[in-house]
Amino acid sequence: MRLAPPVPILDVIRCYASSCSYIPELAVIAPQQFGIAISLPDGGTVTAGDAAKPLSIQSISKVFSLACVLGRIGDQIWTRVGREPSGSRFDSIQLLEIEHGRPRNPFINAGAIVVTDELLAGRAPREALAEILGLVRTLAEDDDIHISESVAQSETMTGHRNRALAHYLKSYNNLLNNPEHVLGTYFHQCAIEMSCIQLAKAGRAIAGLPDASAIISLPKARRLNALMMLCGQYDGSGEFAFRVGLPAKSGVGGGLLVIVPGRASIGIWSPGLNVFGNSHMGTHAAERLAHAMNWAVFG
Ligand code: GLN
Repeated sequence: MRLAPPVPILDVIRCYASSCSYIPELAVIAPQQFGIAISLPDGGTVTAGDAAKPLSIQSISKVFSLACVLGRIGDQIWTRVGREPSGSRFDSIQLLEIEHGRPRNPFINAGAIVVTDELLAGRAPREALAEILGLVRTLAEDDDIHISESVAQSETMTGHRNRALAHYLKSYNNLLNNPEHVLGTYFHQCAIEMSCIQLAKAGRAIAGLPDASAIISLPKARRLNALMMLCGQYDGSGEFAFRVGLPAKSGVGGGLLVIVPGRASIGIWSPGLNVFGNSHMGTHAAERLAHAMNWAVFG
């Protein structure tokens, strides 16, 4: 009699199968690559593997666009977006229909599209993009960070679900601007490229580390951490909190920004994704590191 393989093995096989499949430019990236950078309170950075290689930050950009919007209009954004975990895929349209066009949180795609729409208010897409890119560059103290036009174009060609979400939001009057302008801006912010080292550096302000940029105030950082903990891994957020116990934000490029409040900011990259669309090896690495260092927000 043949025994069914235990679930973790199936999980591993499935997860190693591919990098992000629906953005052609990302689908060709070898899934087993790995890099990590840990930025510490004394300003030092510990790195391993492909820590200096640029990765497509994708949904990690949602943390930075939200930070921009919170700086611009503060709590008003919560009239348009909720802040509860979704328990659904990051691109779920079903949830948006059930909730009459008010996205559950700013980290699922629909919520992030609304945040980007808010950033566009009265401005050209290039100005809104410049604000997000400017924030990231300031936080990482690195003006070399750029947007990959080829990744942005690749998603523009295949981003049909996001297009559906944007038009759905528009039908509920929860999109103020032209959907194509909002999507163009959103696809470009997702196509920002950063290395693990730059990501870890950019996360210092969210981790409240000494001498980090004061652009993200402590109360704002607290809220970003709360949202990252509850919504940062989509329908894998509960599992991630259980296994890792730290606020984090993932992206389908295989990047992961993990925050250890007051202690460290961690950038991880491994493009092979798990069933939730989060980095498979990145999640394992975060779990092992958190346990080894006894890093947790729950004491
Ligand atoms: N650009 C991607 C999308 O909108 C980001 C999704 C993600 O990283 N989870 O589909």
